[in-house]
Amino acid sequence: MKYNGLEFKLYSSDDKYYLFDYFNLLLIEIDQELYQILIDSKRVPEKYETFIKLLIDNGMCQDNMEIFQILNERKYDVANISFPTSHSCNLACKYCFAHGGANYNSENRTMELPIMRKILERTYLDYFSEFETIKLDFVSGGEPLINFKIIKAAYEVCNELNIITGKKTEIFVCTNATLLNENILEFFSKANIKLGISIDGPKDVHDYTRPYLIGGGTYTDVRKWIDWIVNTKELSNKIKDLLALTVVTSETRSIVDILKHYDEIGIKNVQFKVCRGMAEDSWTLSSKSVNKFFKLYDELNMFLKEEIKKNNLKYLFMILNDNDYFGKIIRRIILRDRSVRRCQSGQNKLAFTANGDVYPCDSFVGKEAYKMGSIFSNDSLKNPLEKMNFSCSDQCSQCWARYICSGDCYYDSMLITGNICVPDESFCILNRRLIDNAINLLGYINSNNPEALEEVERFLRIREQMFA
Ligand code: SF4
Ligand code: SF4
Repeated sequence: MKYNGLEFKLYSSDDKYYLFDYFNLLLIEIDQELYQILIDSKRVPEKYETFIKLLIDNGMCQDNMEIFQILNERKYDVANISFPTSHSCNLACKYCFAHGGANYNSENRTMELPIMRKILERTYLDYFSEFETIKLDFVSGGEPLINFKIIKAAYEVCNELNIITGKKTEIFVCTNATLLNENILEFFSKANIKLGISIDGPKDVHDYTRPYLIGGGTYTDVRKWIDWIVNTKELSNKIKDLLALTVVTSETRSIVDILKHYDEIGIKNVQFKVCRGMAEDSWTLSSKSVNKFFKLYDELNMFLKEEIKKNNLKYLFMILNDNDYFGKIIRRIILRDRSVRRCQSGQNKLAFTANGDVYPCDSFVGKEAYKMGSIFSNDSLKNPLEKMNFSCSDQCSQCWARYICSGDCYYDSMLITGNICVPDESFCILNRRLIDNAINLLGYINSNNPEALEEVERFLRIREQMFA
């Protein structure tokens, strides 16, 4: 919606009316009369002129190239790296983007100790020498516990490099949990490693999407270790604060039911991730399935509103992190955390393979055109995504949601539209709906339980400090 050079969106919730400045991520309460005038695209009467002038004079509801540049050149303190311990998996998840590690087609599939050491040395002493913190993620491209000795050895090498460089290391392991044991969990606890467990909800749902490679459901084995973590007092807070990583597919029946299930079994942090990929794959987000995803997320929004009205914020807190598909949007709006680049892949984020090749992120592994270099070469890394930001895309640079969304995943764009600068339309449709839902939810909280909004903001600020 435009008025006098200003751009904004209008929302209403329970007799309250809001104007959302999508450049500055500000939700401004207005009265019903002004709301109606703006909706009807009529001329604003004199009594509102001061308000409109205030918006104009303060640069609100207007794009600002200086802010764009600042955000584009934003520097980060933390650098992220990842490498698989093995390009293989003992599960055959129906939607796996790495196809159990088969996306990487080199013969050398197992990470060897000297390669791992070299990756870390090049990271700490060369690629990311200027960063204060290195975040080492064992997240994808294979099940990390298949080659647990690499995680243990990497922890030791990181400690050595921390002493030499004065850096801090944070390690995150995301596992399918089927190969966990007490010794591994005790090691993670002592090493202050953060743990994520892939789980897709209750038994019937999880067993359907995440079977063993040799057949048979994995829920019972996964649940055994979640229960052990929840019930073992001696473990570190980081382990007990475990993150459930859940893929939402077009066949997911209810995000709300999954959230309730996690609450029942003691999980407090969740990352729901929408399944992406080629449209012909029936699990993924596509023009055919987008309405199913709308339904799932609309139901979630309704549920959160009901709970917030009862002053129960726990379900909202469960998804309020920078990884959850919907929670991330709410977080960005509340903290006014604008972004012009979808992710930092290739910049302060690198992925390595078992033969020392370097890629911008795990998803690009095996795509030769996106290879950045090798740990064995003295040539500087070439980042194929270096210039990426939303202004590279015709669609994104015109989109009202750009400072919140910041563009589609470059890998998914490449896969789905064949061009890293052209976002997948189904993603845009869903994402704008979720952003609308998030603004609507915040308006609802402001109308029905304004103290809760302060509590949510406090929660987020504490969390940001904890993970800064
Ligand atoms: S919703 Fe689509 S067009 Fe809009 S910023 Fe995001 S990716 Fe770009
Ligand atoms: S390109 Fe996509 S998969 Fe890779 S880090 Fe960015 S958002 Fe994630």
